[in-house]
Amino acid sequence: NKQVILRDYVNGFPKESDFEVRTSKVRLNVAEGSKSVVVKNLYLSCDPYMRSRMRNLTGSYVPPFTPGSPITGNGVARVIDSGHPNFKKGDLVWGLTGWEEYSLLTEPETLFKIQHTDVPLSYYTGILGMPGLTAYAGFYEVGSPKEGEYVFISAASGAVGQLVGQFAKLKNCYVVGSAGSKEKVDLLKNKFGFDEAFNYKDEQDLDKALKRCFPDGIDIYFENVGGKMLDAVLLNMKLHGRIPVCGMISQYNLEETEGVHNLFCLITQRIRMEGFLVFDYYPMYPKYLDMVLPLIREGKIKYVEDIADGLENAPKALIGLFSGRNIGKQVVLVARE
Ligand code: NDP
Repeated sequence: NKQVILRDYVNGFPKESDFEVRTSKVRLNVAEGSKSVVVKNLYLSCDPYMRSRMRNLTGSYVPPFTPGSPITGNGVARVIDSGHPNFKKGDLVWGLTGWEEYSLLTEPETLFKIQHTDVPLSYYTGILGMPGLTAYAGFYEVGSPKEGEYVFISAASGAVGQLVGQFAKLKNCYVVGSAGSKEKVDLLKNKFGFDEAFNYKDEQDLDKALKRCFPDGIDIYFENVGGKMLDAVLLNMKLHGRIPVCGMISQYNLEETEGVHNLFCLITQRIRMEGFLVFDYYPMYPKYLDMVLPLIREGKIKYVEDIADGLENAPKALIGLFSGRNIGKQVVLVARE
C-alpha cells in the first residue's frame, strides 16, 4: 500500500521533502463485526485548507495531520469490502479518505455515495464535491447576488473561483477575475466567459487595476486570497457591497498575517463581510447537485482540472497550490478503476 506521509509539521512554504512516499502492508478486508469499509482510492483532491493541517495548531476547525502517518483529504474511491449496512462492495463514494492506495475508513457515515457516473468521476473532488458546494454556498447564500451586479473573484481560475465566475454569469452579473498567469487570464476570458480578467502579478497598483475594471465599484467580492488584494478591493466596494470570505491563501504560509489597512471601508460603504465554512452547507449538497448536474450535461458550465498522475506525484501537486502551479482544480489520479 503506497502512502503519502507528512514527515513533520511545517513552517513557511511546504516543500516536497516535507513528505515521504512509502509502502506498507495493508489488510483488504473488514474485521468481523466492524462497521468500517475498505476502499480503493481512485482520485485525491489537493485543497488549500490542508496547509493548516500541516501545523500543530490546536483549536482549528480541522485537526492537524499526524506526522509519520498517511495524510488524509477528500477523494473518490471504490468500496472493496464493507461492514456497514449503507455500503456494499463496488459502491463509488467521495469524502474523507487516506492519501494511499487503499484505506480502512472507520466512519463511513461521512461518505457520500456517488449516484451519477455519466460525468467524470474526478469531478467529485471538484465541481461535484467540496469546492463546488463552496462556490455555490459562498456565492448564492453568503453573497446574496442580484441580477446584473458587479462581481470580482480572486484566485479566479482555481477549483472554486472558476465556478463562482460562471454562476455569476448565469445570474447576468458583470464578472472580473484575477489570476497569476497569462494562461489563466486567457482561460477566464475565453473558456469561462468572464467579462474581464487580469494577472495580479503584472499590476504595480491593484487599486488602479480594480478601478480600470470597475469604474463604478464592486457589489460582490468573492475573497480567496486576502492580504494586499483584499486591501485594494476594500477601496473599490460599492455601497452595501458584500464580501463572502472563502479563503485567504496568500496568508497560509506566513508566520504573521499581512496587514489589511482599509477595513474602515466596511463602515463607510456599509459592506457586509462574512466568513463561511463549506461544512455548514453540506445538507444543501443534494440541492446543489440538482442544480449543477444539468448545467454540466448541457455544457452550460465548464470545469478545468489539472490531474497529476500517481501517488508519488501527490506531494508536488499539493504544494503547487501555494505557488499557483495548478491550472484549474488540482487532482491526483491514484488508480484507474
Ligand atoms: P485553487 O484551485 O484556486 O488553488 C489555489 C490558487 O491560489 C493557486 O492556483 C494560485 O492561483 C492562488 N494563490 C496561491 N498563492 C497565492 C498568493 N500568495 N496570492 C494570491 N493567490 C495565490 O484553490 P481552491 O479553489 O480549492 O481554493 C480557493 C480558496 O478557497 C482558498 O483560499 C481556500 O482556502 C478556500 N476554500 C475555502 C473553503 C471554505 O469552506 N471556506 C472551502 C474550499 C476552499 P494564481 O496563479 O491565480 O495565483
